[in-house]
Amino acid sequence: MPDGSLPAHTLRDAAALIAAGLAAPQDRALLDQVGERYAVAIPPALAALITHPGDPIARQFVPHPDELATAPHERADPIGDDALSPVPGIVHRYADRALLKPLLICPVYCRFCFRREHVGPDGGLLTDAQLATALDWLRTHEAITEVILTGGDPLLLSPRRLAAILDALGAIPHIQTLRIHSRVPVADPARMRAIAPVLETEKPLWLVVHANHATEFTPDARAALREVNRLGVPLLGQSVLLRGVNDTPDALEALFRAMLATRIKPYYLHQLDPAPGTARFHVPIAEGRAILASLRGRVTGLAWPTYVLDIPGGHGKVPIGPDYLDADTVRDPAGRSHALAAPTVTG
Ligand SMILES: *Cc1c(COP(=O)(O)O)cnc(C)c1O
Ligand code: SF4
Repeated sequence: MPDGSLPAHTLRDAAALIAAGLAAPQDRALLDQVGERYAVAIPPALAALITHPGDPIARQFVPHPDELATAPHERADPIGDDALSPVPGIVHRYADRALLKPLLICPVYCRFCFRREHVGPDGGLLTDAQLATALDWLRTHEAITEVILTGGDPLLLSPRRLAAILDALGAIPHIQTLRIHSRVPVADPARMRAIAPVLETEKPLWLVVHANHATEFTPDARAALREVNRLGVPLLGQSVLLRGVNDTPDALEALFRAMLATRIKPYYLHQLDPAPGTARFHVPIAEGRAILASLRGRVTGLAWPTYVLDIPGGHGKVPIGPDYLDADTVRDPAGRSHALAAPTVTG
């Protein structure tokens, strides 16, 4: 399993998508233009889930002519990563943790990706010298207690290279926690299985699985994650709220329940970052809050992620609700207000 290899029969361009019946022949010229600008790949595990054009899986991964139009509010670097990179491969925004991006290749290219201007099949594998510099940066910054491997997708590294990186991080005394964000469990379960043994590290390692629709948790993906979990790796879920994919209470409930059934604790539900050509996925925050509020009380608290906005411009992630407190009343899950009893101050 070399660095960045995708499974055989991954669909990588308009011609392959049209041949597979996933795109209309008359869109060929426009989709070729999209493909020149943004990477395209749909691996067999995800292509097999598409039942009709525009369904929640197709919407996430099949390129669309609308990607050629950038809306006025959209930005190439929506969350300001570029300005926060002290050395190649590192992004440092918070005192106690940093991102390490060892490569920018993904097993599937999400059409709503916030790093779409950077990710791609020929991109970003750090050279040995760059990796050494990034590791040195982490070694000399003792306030960093957690390293988050992201990209691109760190599980597309060869097992040998990923093991070397995890070993190097594990040997840095001030680093207590390792975290990997990945699409591989749902995009390529066979690769997940093959690389799983590498994730059995001495220091706690958390795997955060990116998935946006319940059907991504196929029996194969679930079995692969079961193997990972057996190695003592806790599983978290992260999702993006997306128009036409999971923008209903039923779709979100099914997604979070599918995660729980896979031993994944839903961690974050992201508000869409305004990357270029992604406007068709936008769900207003007020609507997102209303959808989540309708799940409160109906769905187990274990299923509840934090709904977060990465403030455009690099200002950080913050929870955006819903919330239940007014000045001196609190609303219950059914929307009824109740007085907050103030304690009587004595003595
Ligand atoms: C999202 C992000 C993190 C991780 O944030 P958590 O809230 O700990 O999940 C860390 N660094 C950067 C630059 C980020 O964008
Ligand atoms: S897997 Fe992540 S980084 Fe890769 S295209 Fe999807 S959202 Fe972007």
